[in-house]
Amino acid sequence: MAKPCASRAFRVRESVIFVNIMGFRILNWQDLGVPITTMRFVGARMATRLRNLGIRTIGDLLWHLPWRYDKYEQADTPEAFAAGQKISVQGQISSIANRFIFPRRMTVTTAVISSASSDIRAVWFNQPYLKDTLPEGTLVSIAGKVRQDKRGTYLASPVYERLRRLEKLVHTGGLVPVYPETSGVSSKYIRMLIRPLAENVLLPDPLPREIVRQQKFPPLDKALQMVHIPKDDTAAEEGRRRLAFDELLLFQLKALTERRRMTQQRAVSIAFDQKFVQSFVTDLPFTLTKDQKIAAWEILKDLQKPYPMNRLLEGDVGSGKTVVALVAALQVAHSGHQTVILAPTEVLAQQHYATICDLAGSLGISIGLLTASKSDINGSPTPRKKMKERIAVGEVSIIIGTHAVIQKDVRFGALALVVVDEQHRFGIAQRAALVKRSGVIAHLLSMTATPIPRTLALTVFGDLDISLIREKPKHRLSVITRLIQPQQRSETYAFVRQQIKEGRQGFVICPRIETDDGTAGTVMLWQLPMSITRQQIKAVEKEYERLSSDIFYDLRLAMLHGRMKPKEKERIMDKFRSGAIDILVTTSVIEVGVDVPNATFMLIEGAEHFGLAQLHQFRGRVGRADKQSYCFLMPTTDDLLNNERLKTLARVSDGFALAEKDLALRGPGEFFGVKQSGMPDIVMASLTDTKLIQQARISARLILHNDPSLAKAPILRQRLQALGGFRHFE
Ligand code: ADP
Ligand code: MG
Repeated sequence: MAKPCASRAFRVRESVIFVNIMGFRILNWQDLGVPITTMRFVGARMATRLRNLGIRTIGDLLWHLPWRYDKYEQADTPEAFAAGQKISVQGQISSIANRFIFPRRMTVTTAVISSASSDIRAVWFNQPYLKDTLPEGTLVSIAGKVRQDKRGTYLASPVYERLRRLEKLVHTGGLVPVYPETSGVSSKYIRMLIRPLAENVLLPDPLPREIVRQQKFPPLDKALQMVHIPKDDTAAEEGRRRLAFDELLLFQLKALTERRRMTQQRAVSIAFDQKFVQSFVTDLPFTLTKDQKIAAWEILKDLQKPYPMNRLLEGDVGSGKTVVALVAALQVAHSGHQTVILAPTEVLAQQHYATICDLAGSLGISIGLLTASKSDINGSPTPRKKMKERIAVGEVSIIIGTHAVIQKDVRFGALALVVVDEQHRFGIAQRAALVKRSGVIAHLLSMTATPIPRTLALTVFGDLDISLIREKPKHRLSVITRLIQPQQRSETYAFVRQQIKEGRQGFVICPRIETDDGTAGTVMLWQLPMSITRQQIKAVEKEYERLSSDIFYDLRLAMLHGRMKPKEKERIMDKFRSGAIDILVTTSVIEVGVDVPNATFMLIEGAEHFGLAQLHQFRGRVGRADKQSYCFLMPTTDDLLNNERLKTLARVSDGFALAEKDLALRGPGEFFGVKQSGMPDIVMASLTDTKLIQQARISARLILHNDPSLAKAPILRQRLQALGGFRHFE
């Protein structure tokens, strides 16, 4: 729900104003910190309920923004009463009566409202008290959707408000805001609380005047009014944009100050030895793509600086990020320092280790693997204790391992670079914890195969530099993706058989199954694939059983899932990699990073259960060499063949284009764990508004340029501090 970080910042100054007099004014930012319990109509019980919406103070209430508006046409001619239309009618109750329908144990209240030109019927259910609330002769305004029955048109359960004379309509006239609600807190109640506040808000604007003028924004208090009491759609939108801008600006200010703080830290400066790098690159079994070269160059440049790098390497699956990280790690090793590469899973750590030993094993650099089950240096098993000792004195130059193990119990003698593969947000604190030497912080390179649309990246990761690998290695064919109808199943299996006959391998991915609490449904790409449910494993076991005893009884099948022992998983991955397994039946374990060039087909069962980004990740496990590869999406039933997401996946192969589509289809809230980033709803709703984000960025720069400590913008400064930025300017 909307939790504007806004008002959190304001200290409570009670009894400054007498809030329980309707029509009071909010005159300064301190007033926003006054608890809602001081308001009329907010007792202890309602206060508790409002807290569930994140509302504790007057400020929270004012920033509790409508998520949509109900638009009621003012209707006073009978022709206007067409079924389905939303209308609002003002008039007098000319009759009202209750009726009890016995078999359904329900009270029906029917009223007739006579307006200037016609009568309309209103019907409510199980609210017999309305007969007393709205007795005959009451002036009312009612609003709702027109329904039709055999007696004509009527309004079913309309919202109503009593009118004294011709008053302003709060609940039933024109654009009526609909707020995020919770049990026991209706929009109607929220409107009643907010309306007088919004009418009387007179806040000094926290934005520097030149920015307000430049962007042609309404002042803040006006914007709040426009959102809560909009004159029309345009006004509501204008107000919303201004409020969104304020929040986006805060994010940008935070990012910029974080950045600045980074440049004040010290890191080991790694000299860029072009000759050394060049010779390694030349000796690779392939030519780096232009994007890979640029990314490597950007990273090597960053490593030279005396302050820590903070860079995100973004590249679609199979774009070759590992080798780019390796170039950096080798340069670090060459200068006598250490790199640690953190992988989210054991399978992936081992794969990186194998790849890196393969590509750099002959350079005389010591490369180590350290996971829960393995400890190895340059291909020879090494006791853990010994391994850790050697790392502690700086003898092992590149250490590859799982996140959990390394963060827990390893000390580094000469750590200069941390590479994090597929892990969301690895922070300064975590980085510092790895480097025990005082005063110096390691450089950080995060790698992700999740193509994050640029606007989103700028907002969520504004404090990172970004390198993009858009281009795929040469000779890579795009994966042919097909939606498979149930009746095409046997055809598809025959095709798979043919592929295997030609010496290829592939995967069958089993559906993710919803748990009772729905957790599996919200598993994000960046979460470790550990949270795999029992049911999912059951699904894998069942599918494995079915395929190996019947359909592919004569082929070599194996099963892989998250609950297997690491040793067992490793054995199976090794067998698969060496070509001794034809089909791997698996859960989403396979999702991140697994690289088997000979794998050319993939069947995704229950494809509709997976998100677009995740499906794209799966698909990236095939098509990793110059062989034509295939991805078959097998939805559970055929009516899903119209699924927009699956159709998009079949049509679009570029990860960046898909990400943009995904953003448009699902909205940013559902996008890659953005929800976890603590952004207020209004920011999320604006993440597709590239222009506004750009403006916020430019404005943030301008503000900090003119006023680095925000001395002239104390409210902004306060809000930023509340967001957790800006600490070192105290
Ligand atoms: P990802 O970006 O998904 O992590 P990887 O780093 O695993 O991709 O690389 C995918 C595969 O492509 C690996 O087998 C790697 O050796 C290979 N590769 C990387 N760069 C190139 C290139 N420039 N030309 C050909 N193959 C490459
Ligand atoms: Mg990878």
